[in-house]
Formats: sequence, C-alpha cells, structure tokens
Amino acid sequence: MSGRLFAGYNSVVKRLYWTNPDVYEKEVEVESISDCKVTIEPIVFHPDEGGQPADKGRIGESEVLNVEIIDGRIVHTLDKPLNDGKYIARVDRRQRLSIARRHTAQHIISGIAERRFDLKTIGVHIGFESCTVDFDKKIDFETAQKIERDSMEVVAENIPVETVFNDADARTRFDLKGIESDMIRVVKIGDYDASACCGTHVRRTGDIGIIRILDLESKKNGTRVSFTAGLPAVEFSQTETSMLKELRQLSKCSTAELPMIFRKALESAKNLSKQVERLQEQMLPGYVTSASIVDIGSSKVGIQIDAVSAKLAGKLASMIASEIDGTGIVISDGSIAINSKKLDANGLLKKLHIVVGGKGGGSANAASGMLDKEVTTEQVIEILKGGT
Ligand SMILES: [Zn+2]
Repeated sequence: MSGRLFAGYNSVVKRLYWTNPDVYEKEVEVESISDCKVTIEPIVFHPDEGGQPADKGRIGESEVLNVEIIDGRIVHTLDKPLNDGKYIARVDRRQRLSIARRHTAQHIISGIAERRFDLKTIGVHIGFESCTVDFDKKIDFETAQKIERDSMEVVAENIPVETVFNDADARTRFDLKGIESDMIRVVKIGDYDASACCGTHVRRTGDIGIIRILDLESKKNGTRVSFTAGLPAVEFSQTETSMLKELRQLSKCSTAELPMIFRKALESAKNLSKQVERLQEQMLPGYVTSASIVDIGSSKVGIQIDAVSAKLAGKLASMIASEIDGTGIVISDGSIAINSKKLDANGLLKKLHIVVGGKGGGSANAASGMLDKEVTTEQVIEILKGGT
C-alpha cells in the first residue's frame, strides 16, 4: 500500500518520539551541516510541522533553538556549533508534555466531533498561547460544550494512545507538505479517533487531565474552536471563577443572576447617558461663555476641557468658534474637537499631537481626534503659542 508520510522524513524508526514519547534523554549521533545546524540520529526532537511547534532542549552543551524540516531532513539550529560525534540529547520535558497533552486533546475533540456531530476537522493549530481546531460547519456553543463533555469521558476512560503504521482506515485530516513515502504514521485512540499525524502525544488519554473548550469563532462556512488542556485548562477555569466571584461581590447577587443584573445595568447606563447628554445640550450656551479665551497671534481661541461628553465636543467647539469669531477647542475623555473661523483647525490638532501624541485629522475649518495624554487649559495654550 502506498501512502504519504506526514513527516518529511523517510525513516520511521529514527523518529523516536513516535513510538517512545517518554524518552527525554538519549545518546545521539550528531552530523554537522553548517555552523550551528546539525542533524541527529535517532531523532528525539519534534520539528516545527503539522501545526505543532518544535521541541526545545539541549544537545551536549548546545541549546536547541529551532528544529525544522529542510529538504526532507530534520535540521536542528543550535546556539553553539557542535562537531560530528556522539552527544546526549535532552528534550525539554515540561514543554513536550504540555504540547503533547493539547495535541492529544485535539485528536479527541476532532474524533468526537466527526463521529458524533458529523464535523470534519479542516485545520489545527497547537501553540503555547492558543490551540484551535477548525470545523467545516457552523456550530453553536451548546454543541461545543457537548463535544467538551464527551471528550472528558474519553479522558476519564484513560485509554491508550497508540501509534500504528499504514492503517487503511486512517483519515488524513489536513494536507501537509510531506514527502511521498510508503509509510503513514497513524495515531489511534480506541474507537474514537484514528488519523494520520506526525506530532507528539501522551501515552494514555488520562494523562491529559482536563480538556476545556474556551470559545467559538465563525470562519467562512465553518467554525474555529479554541481549546486548551492540562494545567492551562485548570488555570483558565480558575481565572474565570475568580472573575465571577468578583462580579458577584460587586453586584451582590448569585452567578445565575449576573447576566440579568448586567443587562439591567447596561440599560440603565444607556438611559442615564442619554439624560446627561440632553442636560449638557441645554447647558451648551453656558459652556460657551465659560470657555477660557486667549489670543493666539491675532485670533481668539476658546478652550473648554472636560465640560461635556465627547459626543457633544464638536458641537460645543463650533458654538465657541461662532461666538468669538475665532477658534473653539473642546477636549473630553481623551477626544478633541477643533472648529475654527480664522486659523487652520487641522494644523492646530497636528501641533497638539506632536507634543502629546494621538490621532485624527480634518480640514482647516474642523478637525477631531484623540489625544494620548491628559492636558490642562494652560498646557494647550502653551503648546499652541509655541512657535507662533
Ligand atoms: Zn497528533
């Protein structure tokens, strides 16, 4: 039977971690390719391939910075060069296990999704920060949670994660750029999953400990599911539990009541800000007369800071400019609006941005944007007078 090796290497037995994932220390034969690049035999470090990051560790006294497939060979980049010869290779156990737990969790999630929910896995990413599985169809969060519960049953069953070769039933989930070969390495988890894979896995599903599905994201016709496994899954749950505890204390209610309390608070905040806006609109003429008026060159500039909401800043700036037949500058909550009859509004905004930072723009008549720092009326005057 002919097939495809999802590995880019044509000798299965040399990839020690396929059949012996627990070997973290091994004497290897090093062959130097160039300065800090070497190949080793047997291969104990997983390279960066198949959506899984490279192993870290040491070969002799050299640190392994990267492991990648170059022209069909697994090449190790070291921090210090090594001569040809025998050395002890040590794999970073903590990182290997952490990734192996997540990767095995992905097999279970994909297997359950396919067998019970008719979802095909079309992409996988296993990283230190995030892990994702892409399904070919849209799913809701309830379905994702069912997959999560079913996956945890597989973890609890503590069944072996086996490596077999040339399995006729194996599905190839994603199209990796492997090398044509007569050999396919298949990872089998009982009746739950059998798929062609080049990665590292734990020995038994119980070694994963816990699988958590964290979120869903719509992707074209499918869904991206983010998940984690092992200790990061516990840490994630602890963070969410702490947040819920804090929210309960703040709102003095139970967890079940939180969504209702939150919706009410949002509604109430929306109504209040509408009321404040209405009141501020009525008070705009007062803010026009209370603006600080200064002369910049031969033109009058009126400045008002933190008087109205950002939404009314443009309107107030325009009213000040008309009233003094000059320039109105209104700053509120980090946003700024400038309206000018005589000066270049956009030029004034640029001048402020040079000193305090921010973004935005406009025309000679009106400009608006954001300021990176809080400023006082005196500082605005000083900046605008500078260089005039
Ligand atoms: Zn795998």
